[in-house]
Amino acid sequence: MEYRKLGKTGLEISEISIGTEYLEKIKREDLGEVIQKAIANGINFIDILYNFDNFLEQISKAIQGSRDKIILNHHLGSSELDGKYNKDRSMKKIKEHFEKYLEIMNTDYVDIAFIHFVHTEDEFDECWKEGGVKDFALQLKKEGKARFVGLSIHRMDLAIKVAESGDVDVIMIQINLANHAHPQRQEMLATCEKHGIGVIAMKPFAGGKLLQPNKSVSFPDYLTAFHEMPEKKISEGVKATQCLHYILNQIGISTIVPGVANIDELEDCLSYYTVSDEKLDYTNLLKDFEEYVTGECVYCNHCQPCPEDIDIASIFRLYDQAQIGQTDKIQETYTTMCAKASDCIECGDCEERCPFDVEVIEKMKEAATLFE
Ligand code: SF4
Ligand code: SF4
Repeated sequence: MEYRKLGKTGLEISEISIGTEYLEKIKREDLGEVIQKAIANGINFIDILYNFDNFLEQISKAIQGSRDKIILNHHLGSSELDGKYNKDRSMKKIKEHFEKYLEIMNTDYVDIAFIHFVHTEDEFDECWKEGGVKDFALQLKKEGKARFVGLSIHRMDLAIKVAESGDVDVIMIQINLANHAHPQRQEMLATCEKHGIGVIAMKPFAGGKLLQPNKSVSFPDYLTAFHEMPEKKISEGVKATQCLHYILNQIGISTIVPGVANIDELEDCLSYYTVSDEKLDYTNLLKDFEEYVTGECVYCNHCQPCPEDIDIASIFRLYDQAQIGQTDKIQETYTTMCAKASDCIECGDCEERCPFDVEVIEKMKEAATLFE
């Protein structure tokens, strides 16, 4: 397992984590097996979304003895109604659920208290009003009952607003191929990076729709962060590892939370570290979204090797980030790179290899002007 910084929290988070949404539906003993295997393989963030007592008790058992190894979270506002998940903004319920959660998890604090699932402007206003859930989350942080405050959200524009507000430390949001061309996604990711907000990418497979080859699939708003996506026929042979690699190559991502339903799906995600480069290469998937990506670097590394050892994808990632907001950190990262944009000898090899027609030589000149 590889680890990344979760923004300014300083936490080291496994770059592949898991969501537990689908584990709620499986046998309780199997749930324990999946979680224990995840932890044994170095996963240290297990997104616990549902606040059903019985479900939490099973998770609590599964993580017994591992509390200090994992980043424990809680979703403020995730509730239960008639045995089913229900989003509830009642502060009374939120406070009760939180205390109960600590009790079941046998701990005094959570690492991240998430303001749960903000979907619309109205919900944002409700959560941010005086005495609302945002104030409660900040109070928990002050009292040491939550080390950090997070927000799980479906809207890029609101995520940008919150990242700029400084109210939260972590944002969990949908990042996947289906919202690759979302007009505000790069801005959102770069804004989070600029303000040290850790980004947790959810819905990496767009609710499994990206893993349905040869099928025409539609993408509802909650899977694409409100990016309108026409029905698409997905290429044959899509691998989960390709989707993960694509996301981990985007700006500012700290971790991904694929929702796994069983051991096989967990192993599939963990195979990220052992599969061949071919099974990581996401170029063929982006071709399904080709109309959006021509001329734009998607950090896929197909242009390598460069005779001057220039890490083209990394330089362009920094350049794209800096276009939205240059920071000392971006500049420092660039300055410490061994080969710079100005080392480009304009051989053109990379342009011949790039599947997305990126004008690498021109872009290198722009990067050199910006950074050197
Ligand atoms: S320049 Fe082209 S091949 Fe190279 S990383 Fe960017 S998109 Fe991929
Ligand atoms: S054109 Fe520049 S960046 Fe591209 S392969 Fe040649 S030296 Fe490297």
